[in-house]
Amino acid sequence: MTHPGDLGTSESKLPRRDALLGLGAAALGASALSPLAFAQAGRMNDRAGVVGKGLDLASLGFNSATGEYTLPPLPYDYDALEPHIDAQTMQIHHTKHHQGYVNGLNKALAELKKIREGSGDAGLIKHWSRELAFHGGGHINHTLFWYTMAPAGSSATTGPSGALARAVNESFGSFDAFKTHFSAAANAVEGSGWAWLMYEPVSKSLVVTQMEKQQDVYVNGARPLLGIDVWEHAYYLRYQNRRSDYTKAFWNVVNWDAVGSLYDAARA
Ligand code: MN
Repeated sequence: MTHPGDLGTSESKLPRRDALLGLGAAALGASALSPLAFAQAGRMNDRAGVVGKGLDLASLGFNSATGEYTLPPLPYDYDALEPHIDAQTMQIHHTKHHQGYVNGLNKALAELKKIREGSGDAGLIKHWSRELAFHGGGHINHTLFWYTMAPAGSSATTGPSGALARAVNESFGSFDAFKTHFSAAANAVEGSGWAWLMYEPVSKSLVVTQMEKQQDVYVNGARPLLGIDVWEHAYYLRYQNRRSDYTKAFWNVVNWDAVGSLYDAARA
C-alpha cells in the first residue's frame, strides 16, 4: 500500500510521539497502559504476539520503518467466539472493517503531514482531522474489542474479580446492575456506535457511556476498559435486526481478565 505522502523514506521517520498524539484523547489514555495490562490474557493471546506488550504503538501495529499502522492479528481464531459471534462476521469485521480503519488512519496521517510540509491543501485540515479522529478511534476501539473477548467457557469469561469486581459493585451497585446498564446503553445506541465501560479518573469511578460512530460523545480523559461494537457489521449476519440478542450473547465472551488488567493499568 502506498500513500501520496510517503512516510517510509528515511528522513521522514514519523516520531513515535507524534504518531500517538495524532490519535487524540483515546490514544493518550491507551498510551499509558503498562505492559502488565496485557500480560494476563497473554496466555491465550500468545499467537498474536502483540497484545502481551500493552496497548502501545506495537500492539496497534505501528511500523516505525514505514511510519504506518498495520492490522494486528486476532488473538484467537475467527471461529473462537462461536456460537455467540460467528466466524464469518469475525473474519469480515477484522479483515475488511478493521483494515479499513487502519487504512483510513494512515491516509489521514499522510495528508496531515503533507499539510504541515506545505504540499497539502490546508483548507482540508478539518476534513483530515475528522478522518484522523474517526479512523484512529476505529483502530483503537477494535484493537481493544478483540483483546477483551475470549472463547465462551474459558476461565476469563466467568466474571470480574478482585479490584475490578469491587469497583463494579461500588459504581453500579452490583454486577447484574452494571450488566443491565451496559446492555441498555448498547441496545439504545442510535445508529452505529459502541457502549463502553470506562474508568473516569477525576471521580475515580467506573462509568458506562455510549459512543457514536468511532469517537463521538467520548468522555475526555476517561480510559476505555470494555466496549461492545454495535455497528450492524458486528452482528447482522447472525442476528439481523435483533441487536439485543447479540448484546446478550456478548456476556458469554467477555475476557474479564483482560478488562481487569486494563482497569489496573488505568489506575496506575
Ligand atoms: Mn466494527
